[in-house]
Amino acid sequence: MTGARSSGLSRRAFCLCCLASSGFAATGGLSPRQAFAEARGLVSLIKDSAATSPIVVHKLRNNISALEGSGGNIAVLTGPDGKVLVDAGIGVSRPQLMKALTDLSPEPVSTLINTHWHFDHTDGNTWLNSVGAKIIAQDNTRKYLSEVQRVEDWDYNFIPLAPGGMPTETFADALNLKFNGVSLELKRYAPAHTDSDISVNFAEANIVHVGDTFWNGIYPFIDYSTGGSIDGTIAACDANLAAATADTIIIAGHGQPISNKSELKAFRDMLVGVRENVATLKRQGRTRDEIVAAKPTAAYDAKFGAFVIDPGFFTRLVYEGV
Ligand SMILES: [Zn+2]
Repeated sequence: MTGARSSGLSRRAFCLCCLASSGFAATGGLSPRQAFAEARGLVSLIKDSAATSPIVVHKLRNNISALEGSGGNIAVLTGPDGKVLVDAGIGVSRPQLMKALTDLSPEPVSTLINTHWHFDHTDGNTWLNSVGAKIIAQDNTRKYLSEVQRVEDWDYNFIPLAPGGMPTETFADALNLKFNGVSLELKRYAPAHTDSDISVNFAEANIVHVGDTFWNGIYPFIDYSTGGSIDGTIAACDANLAAATADTIIIAGHGQPISNKSELKAFRDMLVGVRENVATLKRQGRTRDEIVAAKPTAAYDAKFGAFVIDPGFFTRLVYEGV
């Protein structure tokens, strides 16, 4: 499918972070907590949206594809060992996702890897496990999925996943696997978007899924409730850039899924620029609301502010970490 069309779709493919901030934007001067308290029906809204969103398939190379339209972007490796998925999307997308997967190849899903614990990347774990997928993740993903998680910036408590959706193989820092003749390198980031983030590198194909450390062309959510920070997100971008070559296909967690080193560099430079502007204002003693009003993201809004993590919400997230 063409870039223009899938770009349009991605803007309608809601994720939790996006709708939460959209709720915030719609409620004007309320604090995030007040705004999100008014928006407690959002998870149902997101599920309703995912239930009808189409799945867009981007075929890449070496039997690897990216699927867009159910929460975070999903990577799929096909082959005789069974399909390997990176991220599970939202459970109610099962019919569309199943059809997209079956259209790619006949074999079942044997393995699912979660890039981090967030709902829009793990809600589909339970159904995927019920059709045979073994689930692999970083230790903290399993920990967070097994407890009630309070995300302050959404004012929302996430309940634990059903037992079948829990990762059964976890690792601390790195794990190397081989499926369908492809070497998969799973590597933990230092705390970035959360403290459970990993990258999944399909080595021979030179394709890497970097999870939510990269939101392609849009302002990102940063989850301070489970160890994320603006500085950690910048450090993760630097690690991604150091590992990439001009030929690397980089799959972003949100936004257009198919990306590259130069788009990642632009995202990293935006993070650094906004961080610097917000830190300068904070050092001058300005309050959070004064800093939001000063529009420290202005130079980047035309390029990154069109999605639903709007400039004010992103400024607040940066403010929290500088
Ligand atoms: Zn996330």
